[in-house]
Amino acid sequence: MAFETKEEVFERVILQKRPLCKYCQQEMSIWEAPDMVIDDGLGWGTPYMFVCFNDACRLYAQGWDNIRENYGRTASYRCICYPGTENFECMSVYGPQGGHGQIIEEEALARQKEIEARIGKGLSTLEACAGESGGETALRILMDADEPMRVRVKAAEILGELGRSDAVEPLKNKKFGNDILRKRAAEAVDRIHERHFTRECPFCAEIVKKRAKICKHCGRELTE
Ligand SMILES: [Zn+2]
Ligand SMILES: [Zn+2]
Repeated sequence: MAFETKEEVFERVILQKRPLCKYCQQEMSIWEAPDMVIDDGLGWGTPYMFVCFNDACRLYAQGWDNIRENYGRTASYRCICYPGTENFECMSVYGPQGGHGQIIEEEALARQKEIEARIGKGLSTLEACAGESGGETALRILMDADEPMRVRVKAAEILGELGRSDAVEPLKNKKFGNDILRKRAAEAVDRIHERHFTRECPFCAEIVKKRAKICKHCGRELTE
């Protein structure tokens, strides 16, 4: 059986036409099933499914009385449907909010789509980077807090390969709020020095040749 990642399932589910609830004919919501232990056999078997969250739904509205009469508990059912099937089943809920927390809101979806689009755009810009102007583009993207994290990490990598020595100063002065970015930026600086056979003077912080024994800027003696 082919294994699908959660993202792949998500994409498949989101592209699918939403089913109508068997009990109330309303369009069902996409619901993210809670994480589960795979091998206990009790999981949902899918990370996403469709659920009818219509409070007027016949199954849900009548479920309270039904369960109280038969089991003496306060609970009801919501109608669920497994993606890619026509099978409608019941899920127990213990209050009107039961399961609600996991509904994937349209807004969250739209935001995710937007971020994905920006990641795609940023990465393709970086892929086209070459030469010194490419280094400048990578530096600009790395510095831009509005760019998605994945794009900025990639920019740091490209910058290490293409960046000029004058990219070191802005990198050193930038206060990255994020540990990963800070680390990637430091790696880019190291790589730029390596490519240009340079290093930073420990006294005046100017860039000097790796082989230099005296700093040309501050005149101090440099040791290895
Ligand atoms: Zn329904
Ligand atoms: Zn110096």
